[in-house]
Amino acid sequence: MTMTRRTLTHSALATAALVGTGTTAKTTDTDVIVIGAGAAGLAATDAVMRAGHSVVCIEAMDRIGGRVFTDTTTFGVPYDLGAHWLHHIALNPFVDIGKSHGFTMYKQPDDMQAYYKGKPLNPTDTIALETEHARMFKALFDSAQAGNDRVATYIRQPQTEWTLTSEAMIGSLSMARDLENVSDLDWYIAEEGEDWFCKQGFGTLVAHHWADVPVTLNTTVTSIDADRDTVTVQTSGGPIRAKAMILTVSQGVLASGTLDIRPKMDSALVSAISDITLGSYNHIALQFSHGTIDTPADTWVGYHLTERHNGSPKGGAVLTNSGGTGLCYFEIGGGFGHWLESQGEQAMIDFALSEMSDVFGHDIKNGFIKGHASRWGYEPTVLGSYSGTIPGKANTRSALRTPIANRIFLAGEATSIGEQGTVSGAHKEGLRAAATVSALLA
Ligand SMILES: Cc1cc2nc3c(=O)[nH]c(=O)nc-3n(C[C@H](O)[C@H](O)[C@H](O)COP(=O)(O)OP(=O)(O)OC[C@H]3O[C@@H](n4cnc5c(N)ncnc54)[C@H](O)[C@@H]3O)c2cc1C
Repeated sequence: MTMTRRTLTHSALATAALVGTGTTAKTTDTDVIVIGAGAAGLAATDAVMRAGHSVVCIEAMDRIGGRVFTDTTTFGVPYDLGAHWLHHIALNPFVDIGKSHGFTMYKQPDDMQAYYKGKPLNPTDTIALETEHARMFKALFDSAQAGNDRVATYIRQPQTEWTLTSEAMIGSLSMARDLENVSDLDWYIAEEGEDWFCKQGFGTLVAHHWADVPVTLNTTVTSIDADRDTVTVQTSGGPIRAKAMILTVSQGVLASGTLDIRPKMDSALVSAISDITLGSYNHIALQFSHGTIDTPADTWVGYHLTERHNGSPKGGAVLTNSGGTGLCYFEIGGGFGHWLESQGEQAMIDFALSEMSDVFGHDIKNGFIKGHASRWGYEPTVLGSYSGTIPGKANTRSALRTPIANRIFLAGEATSIGEQGTVSGAHKEGLRAAATVSALLA
């Protein structure tokens, strides 16, 4: 029989329906169970089906996408609560996927606009900022290329007026952690390239692309038990038994211990789970009436940072007028971002609006409509933003791929080496795990 995408979907949907009803303790049998319907889990589920195996994908949330999700109701325009940038388009399959589905895909404008004391930076200061940034990048490159895997704090020296601003760009806003927790090698192995956007939202694109993939929503996996022949999971919808599993939950969930996994993991895998942690990164979205922020669409604006909060750069940067909609993403991360997140959504909005008023002038408050802040650290099935290795442990990502009992295979942004912390990396890791599982079942 020729397996088309549609026939595969329907047969798997029938299996999934057994799980979703969940009123009896009858065990559902399937070839493969995928836990999590984020970028990795969705790609894995589709690939396993295409290889001709039955599959059940279980997702705790009431929607698919995980950390890539577009909310269109809060502001009436696309608002990506998680991933927004399509990083490194030369490696990223989602630009072509978006074009093939008719989405509006476009390149991020090239230059960052920097502000100082409420005004766009003058040419002298612009050069000073760029020079400082280039110096820090070179220091990290040189160290990693020399074979080091060090705490990145050495790039703070020698200090200039722009050191703190550059430090925030590299630490909190790129690695989602302060330099004290950044491994220069982990920073170095992350591929960099041209970034694009999807006007309708990255989450809209991912959800649309995988709309036919069957997922059992609102179902939480609580325990996993693998033996020589099978893996059995307990879920809020009843038990499921499979020949193999692809586990795509975040590092935050793995480290939290809320999933009871047996048999005991290999010690290299246990170490990798504690050495690769989720950082803190959030969007504080502020909507302004058109024309309030006088920048071209999608201008990335940095501003002069001068203070620390418990050692962490106090402040962020802002993507203004996203897609020409008037929505601004004030970005916050690292230790200060983590602290601000703990203060609650209103405190986050107040801080972002105050910083933006200092940058663009206090009149912008007259054009402010409303705000919203993501708080991924408090999302129980994620517990953070994206992964980084602790200094000295950049090479442990490969250990995360160590199977458990040769039945359970981990996949997600954190198992990617080179595209860690991205949707594209998670997607490819889902495909990698699916290929491994399909080979095992062949
Ligand atoms: C604020 C923010 C901004 C970001 N910006 C970008 C960006 O611009 N570009 C980019 O490429 N990447 C970005 N990222 C990173 C990107 O979103 C992630 O790398 C990627 O989406 C991770 O996909 P994943 O499949 O590995 O994990 P997830 O998306 O976390 O998927 C795992 C799924 O497992 C589910 N789950 C967890 N526990 C259970 C359980 N017990 N039972 C059932 N289901 C469970 C979760 O609900 C989740 O849906 C950003 C992330 C954040 C938080």
